[in-house]
Amino acid sequence: MRSTKPEPASRLLRGLPAVDALSRDESLRGWPVRLVVREARRVLDEARADLVASGDEEVDPAVCGIDALVGRVAVRVRAAAASQHRRVVNATGIVLHTGIGRAPLAAAAKRAIEDAAGYAIVEVDPTTGQRNQREEGVASLLSELLGVSGALVVNNNAAAVHLTLSALAAGREVVVSRGELVEIGGGFRMPDVMAEACCRMVEVGATNRTHLRDFERAIRPDTELLLKVHPSNYRVVGFHSMPSLAELCALGKQRSVAVFEDLGSGLLADPVPVSLQHEARVRDSVASGAELICFSGDKLLGGPQCGILVGDADRIAAVRAHPLYRAFRCDKLTLAGLEATLRIYRDGDPLREVPTLAMLARDPEELRADAEDLAVRLDGLGAEVRASESFVGSGANPARPIPSFAVVLPGGDRTARRLRRDAPVPIFTRVAQDRVWLDLRTLHVEDREQVVAWIRAAL
Ligand SMILES: *Cc1c(COP(=O)(O)O)cnc(C)c1O
Repeated sequence: MRSTKPEPASRLLRGLPAVDALSRDESLRGWPVRLVVREARRVLDEARADLVASGDEEVDPAVCGIDALVGRVAVRVRAAAASQHRRVVNATGIVLHTGIGRAPLAAAAKRAIEDAAGYAIVEVDPTTGQRNQREEGVASLLSELLGVSGALVVNNNAAAVHLTLSALAAGREVVVSRGELVEIGGGFRMPDVMAEACCRMVEVGATNRTHLRDFERAIRPDTELLLKVHPSNYRVVGFHSMPSLAELCALGKQRSVAVFEDLGSGLLADPVPVSLQHEARVRDSVASGAELICFSGDKLLGGPQCGILVGDADRIAAVRAHPLYRAFRCDKLTLAGLEATLRIYRDGDPLREVPTLAMLARDPEELRADAEDLAVRLDGLGAEVRASESFVGSGANPARPIPSFAVVLPGGDRTARRLRRDAPVPIFTRVAQDRVWLDLRTLHVEDREQVVAWIRAAL
C-alpha cells in the first residue's frame, strides 16, 4: 500500500539489499568473487538511481527485491565472464565458416596444442641441444606426404603469397592472367599484393580467356615467376579458357622460369570424399611440376590457421631468409596442431579423424536419419525435417551445394538471434523462407545430445 506522505529517499534506499547479501547468494557461487562483487555494486547503483528517479515511495520487490537483483547480477556476471572466442555450435551447414573459426581441429591436434602450451620443443634439437628450424617436423611430414623437397609454414596463406613474392620476385616481373587477378576478401587483392611485394605485375590474356601463347610472349629476361591463382571463390562459365598448371609448368621448364601456384585450399585427402571430387588437390599441383605451391592450413586440410608453402627446397630456403619471414612465422601452438593433423594423413584415417573431412564425407541418408531423430527430441517446438544444401565454405565451391538434411524450426531472424545469444553454448543456424534451419552436416556428433537442451533453453 502506498503512503500519501513523501518519505525521505534515504529511508527508501535502505530497503535495498546490501552488496554482501547479493554477492553471497547461493546462485552466484562458483563465479570469480571479484567479478560478482563488482557486478553486484553496479546493479545496486543502478537500482538506487532508478528508485530516486522514479519518485516511488516503496521498494517494489519484483524490481528491487533480492531475488530480482540477484537475477540481474547473474546475467551480468555470465556476460562478463564469457570470452569473445568461445565455443559455438555450427548448425549453418557451412563446413569452413570463417566467422566461427573455419576448420574445427582433430582430437589429436587439440591434445598436441594443449601439450605444447607450456615449455615445448620449438626450435632446438633435443639430441644435440643445438638450434634448428621450427618447421622441421612439419616440413618432413609434408615431404613424406607430397614428395616435395622443401616446405615452410607462416601465419596464413595470404602471408605465404606475400612472402614468396617479396622474397623471390621483388623488382622482377611476375606474369599472371587477367582472369586470375582475384580478390580473396578482406582487401587482399592480387594486384595490390604484387605492388606491396614490389613485383612488376605483367598481366596477360583477357578476363575470360587466356592462352598459353599469352604467357609465352610475356616471358623476358626480367621474368621471375609465372603465377597461377586458383579461382577459389568464383567460377567463370561460358566462353572461357585458361592454360592448365601442367601446361604452364612445361612452358616454365622450357624457358627456365619458375611457376608459383596459389592453390587456396590444401586438399590432401586421398581418397577424396565424393563431395570434394571437383576440388583441386595439392598432390596434383605437385605432380604438374610447379616449383612453388601455397595453401591454407585451415581450409580443406582441416588444421589450424596457417599458410603452407611447399616445393623446391632452394627457393623455399630463399623465402625463409627474407626478413618478413620473422614477422609471419607461426607460434608453437599452430605448429603443434599442424604437425598432429599431418600425422593423421600419414598414419591415420583422415576421413574419420579430421572433422572437416568427416563432415564432408557424411552420406545424406545418414544425415536424414539424424535429422529425424533430432526433430523427435525437439517435440513441441514445431520442428520439421527438410532436405537442405550444405557448403564447403571459405570460398571453396560456392556454386556447388552438397545435399544435406536439416531440422527446420518456425521463426526467422528473431529465433536465430535467440539461439545465438541465449543458448548456453551459442547456436549458429541459417535463416531461409522465414524459418530457422539447423543443418545436420555441420552439427557435431558430440554436441547432438546436448543441443536439444541448449535449444530449449534459448527458445
Ligand atoms: C583462401 C585463399 C587465400 C587466403 O588464405 P588465408 O589462409 O585465408 O590467408 C589466398 N588465395 C586463395 C586462392 C584462397 O582461396
